[in-house]
Amino acid sequence: MQAMRLLRPTPVEHSPLELVDLPDPVPVEGEVVLEVLACAVCRTDLQIVEGALTPKILPIVPGHQVVGLVVKAGAGVDPAMLGRTVGVGWLASTCGRCDMCRRGLENLCRTASFTGWDRDGGYSTHLTARADFCYPMPPGLAPEEAAPLLCGGIIGYRAFKLAGIGRGDRLGLFGFGASALLVAQVARSAGCELYVVTRGSDAQQRAREEGATWVGTLGERPPVPLQAAITFAPVGSVVVEALRSVDRAGVVVVNAIHLDSIPEFSYDDLYWERRVVSVANFTRADSGELLELAASLPIRTRHQTYPLAEANRALQQLKGDMVSGAAVLRP
Ligand SMILES: [Zn+2]
Ligand SMILES: [Zn+2]
Repeated sequence: MQAMRLLRPTPVEHSPLELVDLPDPVPVEGEVVLEVLACAVCRTDLQIVEGALTPKILPIVPGHQVVGLVVKAGAGVDPAMLGRTVGVGWLASTCGRCDMCRRGLENLCRTASFTGWDRDGGYSTHLTARADFCYPMPPGLAPEEAAPLLCGGIIGYRAFKLAGIGRGDRLGLFGFGASALLVAQVARSAGCELYVVTRGSDAQQRAREEGATWVGTLGERPPVPLQAAITFAPVGSVVVEALRSVDRAGVVVVNAIHLDSIPEFSYDDLYWERRVVSVANFTRADSGELLELAASLPIRTRHQTYPLAEANRALQQLKGDMVSGAAVLRP
């Protein structure tokens, strides 16, 4: 097999990933080997490659939004999985025993391991993964369409679930990148009205095309109180803006891994049972639901494909904001 492997974290301008030939993988008990059909490139990969997020092993093959064909099955794996197309995401394993796992919150498991961070990921022709952490891929989703959904897309979907809203409710989206675009499609299909606050005329135009009832720029507040809001920008002041836009009992879901500090706000902004909640990773149930929805709606993603050997270029272009939609590697 071939893989784009990182020896030590280095700025992507120096093309740190090397194309290497590795022995063909042999699955251990409970694992499968996938022939990789597509692997989308995430900003977290960029952080791992450059060392902002320290890799747990070195050398490492990055990549955690993988669609592949099951070509080998280890002991204890249902042989019916062979020949199926599946997805593999960030969550590579959980303990299954801790209180988080038992409560259906495996996304919060303290001893979880992660694809492309704790173990080799999908910037390769083949990938080994735990069979029970592979998501069945519904028919009708092309690998390069599905791969970009497998990280930010599913987290966006979980954020929408945490918002706890439905038909006729008003949802605010603060920021309108790829993850928000997906949430917009999910929310519209659920019958919600969209209120979008975002900078940049391109993003505002896209929001209108997605059927937003109202579109404003940063600093503007939606004209009516909202039942829920999701913030995407890693900026604390946006959380306060969102909080001031939701009605009594309103929820603000913060969809950001890192956030600068949230500025002080009056308790009046939080009173009347308003809530602020973060979203962290996602469960296998979330991914199953989103993939089914993506196939049935269908959800559209924008992507640009690169050969595996050009993973460095894909990361460079992602860093320079030069990719239109998601970057997807095709071995
Ligand atoms: Zn990711
Ligand atoms: Zn656990």
